[in-house]
Amino acid sequence: SAAIEVRDASYSYGGSNIEALRGVSFTIERGVKTVLMGPNGAGKSTLISLLNGLEEPSSGEVQVLGKRWTRESGMRLRQRVGVVYQDPDDQIFSTSVEEDVAFGPRNLGLPESEVKERVADALRTMGICELRGRSPFELSYGQKRRVAIAGVLAMRPEIIILDEPMAFLDPKSRDDLQAMLDELHGLGITLMVATHDVDFAAEWAERVLLLKEGRLLAAGTTDLLYDDA
Ligand code: ADP
Ligand code: ADP
Repeated sequence: SAAIEVRDASYSYGGSNIEALRGVSFTIERGVKTVLMGPNGAGKSTLISLLNGLEEPSSGEVQVLGKRWTRESGMRLRQRVGVVYQDPDDQIFSTSVEEDVAFGPRNLGLPESEVKERVADALRTMGICELRGRSPFELSYGQKRRVAIAGVLAMRPEIIILDEPMAFLDPKSRDDLQAMLDELHGLGITLMVATHDVDFAAEWAERVLLLKEGRLLAAGTTDLLYDDA
């Protein structure tokens, strides 16, 4: 099955008559590097909530990893679809980096040896082994973001969605992050990145989804980025 199949999905927030998503349809095959683009308010965050089971579409259908999920089963979906939110401070809460990255797998009730192994792997992949004993709160923004990604990675998800991961990073940190994304891709993880960064999108993505005012304006290759949108 495809990683993600969205069929004519719409979504309205309770108490609001504005449709945050309107009749959106697209398919993402497994392993395809996708960027989700569009101005603020386009519906990117709303779409992400549908893709990790936090919300269900008001109409239409969302299938992730071959299944429709409800808000009740969404908890299990979130073990398989990790989301890295824009602000790492929203995702970091433990007293040490190691504890923070261990939180998810420990919560799954995995044996401690397995937790330790996952944490070590995630820290290694994100290049932050030397931060393991540090308090995440005293780290730089770029380092916090890596900790947040490591925490998601430790869940061993099949899909990772990152919301504006390049924001506020200097060029060197962006390059490092892009290299890390490619490493995650190499592990077989399907990646979707919500971003305003056209240069990154053009260089990195295999597929582009362009949202505006809740509608999917276009879905295709990075050639889209050179059209007038
Ligand atoms: P983006 O992530 O692309 O900036 P969003 O998905 O956050 O877009 O927002 C899409 C639309 O839904 C916007 O019109 C926004 O104002 C509205 N919206 C977002 N969150 C809520 C909410 N919690 N309640 C009501 N409307 C919301
Ligand atoms: P790195 O470890 O990647 O070098 P830095 O802490 O140096 O990360 O931050 C990179 C950029 O992000 C800098 O331009 C900095 O001003 C900005 N930045 C740092 N912390 C924040 C924050 N909490 N919110 C917004 N921007 C931030």
